[in-house]
Amino acid sequence: MNKRVLVKFSGEALAGSEGYGIDTKILDYIANEIKSLVEYGIEVAIVIGGGNIIRGVTAAADGVIKRTSADYMGMLGTVINGVAMQEALEYKGLSARLQTAIKMEEIAEPFIVRKAMRHFEKGRVVIFGAGTGNPYFTTDTGATLRATEIGADLLIKATKVNGVYDKDPMKFTDAVKLNTLSYDRALEDHIKVMDDTAIALAKDNKLPIAVTNMNEEGNLLRIVKGDYSRCSIVK
Ligand code: UDP
Repeated sequence: MNKRVLVKFSGEALAGSEGYGIDTKILDYIANEIKSLVEYGIEVAIVIGGGNIIRGVTAAADGVIKRTSADYMGMLGTVINGVAMQEALEYKGLSARLQTAIKMEEIAEPFIVRKAMRHFEKGRVVIFGAGTGNPYFTTDTGATLRATEIGADLLIKATKVNGVYDKDPMKFTDAVKLNTLSYDRALEDHIKVMDDTAIALAKDNKLPIAVTNMNEEGNLLRIVKGDYSRCSIVK
């Protein structure tokens, strides 16, 4: 059984049909899915992206905003999502703490791994905001880094797809779902589970990654119970 798990959601996942901002119905749905893990006895950490608010590369595209500044804006976006997620978890009766890679102590605790571990012992969900705290990284890398630091047994990448395919299932009708794949396969261009930095870090630290569809209720719980039928595992 997986005892401690980090779940990564993209920022876009929170956006609902509008494509941007935060849809509280989706927050509520995610909080329910997380609650099922906590009730099952799992220690849960969460990383949320910021793509529903701002992405550094896009914001810096025309050169008006420098990439480093745009990336800090992106990191702030992940904190906005983190505050929202913390609220949604508490609304569901869970105890949650947001920790940020960039200090903003009126809003959240700074990231301190020992403190995070203490929160897990007390049954709290810990949300890690502001990615790695550095520009030129992604929240997938932040999620891999934090999962490694807290000694998570598994990183779940909660996405819109059922898993990883040998080619784009939207374009090719004969695309085949891969139940398991190696880190090296995950690095292949057309597969792209996560960016190369994140995969390399997971590989170095032998952190398994489960890719699953967050919109199918119960998928997260299925995975932590060891049922990998609705996901792909990179290991
Ligand atoms: N970001 C960053 N460093 C990090 C994590 C994130 O600079 O360690 C910035 C980057 O600009 C990124 C944005 O925050 O585009 C939002 O994160 P991401 O694109 O990973 O969000 P997602 O695609 O998961 O919604």
